[in-house]
Amino acid sequence: MPAQILEPGQIEAAANIPPFLHLPGPDLFRIRAARLRQLAEGHPLAGYLLLVAALCDAQQQVLDNPPPLPGPAPEALARSREHGMPPIAYEALVRADGWLAVLDALLECFPVPSNAAVADALQQLGEADTAQRKTWGVGLLSGQFDLLPPAIAPFVGAALQVAFSHWMLALPDGAIVENEAKVLCPACGSPPVSGMIRHRGKHNGLRYLACSLCSCEWHYVRLKCSHCQESKHLAHLSLERDGVKGEQAAIRAETCPSCQGYLKQCYLEFDAEAEAQADDLASLDLDVRLSEEGYLRRAPNLLLAPGSE
Ligand code: FE
Ligand code: FE
Repeated sequence: MPAQILEPGQIEAAANIPPFLHLPGPDLFRIRAARLRQLAEGHPLAGYLLLVAALCDAQQQVLDNPPPLPGPAPEALARSREHGMPPIAYEALVRADGWLAVLDALLECFPVPSNAAVADALQQLGEADTAQRKTWGVGLLSGQFDLLPPAIAPFVGAALQVAFSHWMLALPDGAIVENEAKVLCPACGSPPVSGMIRHRGKHNGLRYLACSLCSCEWHYVRLKCSHCQESKHLAHLSLERDGVKGEQAAIRAETCPSCQGYLKQCYLEFDAEAEAQADDLASLDLDVRLSEEGYLRRAPNLLLAPGSE
């Protein structure tokens, strides 16, 4: 038989290794906006979900026509790869000026809102200087939420998401490498916003963690805490919704008694349209319940004003 040259995907399939990455398409914000509008129907927080959907529309517009966004230099990419580091590590890039142009572009295409609090927040953002905006960006990504006014957080978060998704989607093949701990995004180093239990094709039955910042998804074994990596006594908590029993719910939280943390999981077999960020925002009642039970959320949804649950 003649020798056959296998493509990377075929090698993984032949060796039965789960594909390590599941990357979003270039229309990720359009998909998120559509999902938010779907979830808003009859939802008690419909007004809020529709406002975020409008923000996702603006994110897509900027991603489709981005301002000049200098990303990491080829030498820096080679260095990251050699050391197994995230190629677009957020700690460095949020402190550089690159993403600020996205914030201006986003403010330009976001429609003037009728909500006075949102309008005030946009004005405050528009008037802020570079140093102030960067302080807010660093505060948001490093979990120091007291550094920024809650109402402006979703706009700063939205701008950062566009910049990092742009850089992530532009990375050359092979630039994203698996890191040792696997609990942080291998592209940008941010924590996951939720987990996706996939149900089709080569990803069937596998869990991928969805990055809160760049939306890259990476494989992470099921039944292991995505924060402390403990496997013992993990449990699932979900709410009965619209007559659908908790065990059949498309969104369930995996709780860990070792670190008292939790991460929501979307089961695509029960709702194939589920989207990591949108379904997280539409299930804040589950966060309230988990908080009442003493569990801690490990990563924010960057489109939600911290503390406004
Ligand atoms: Fe990421
Ligand atoms: Fe844990």
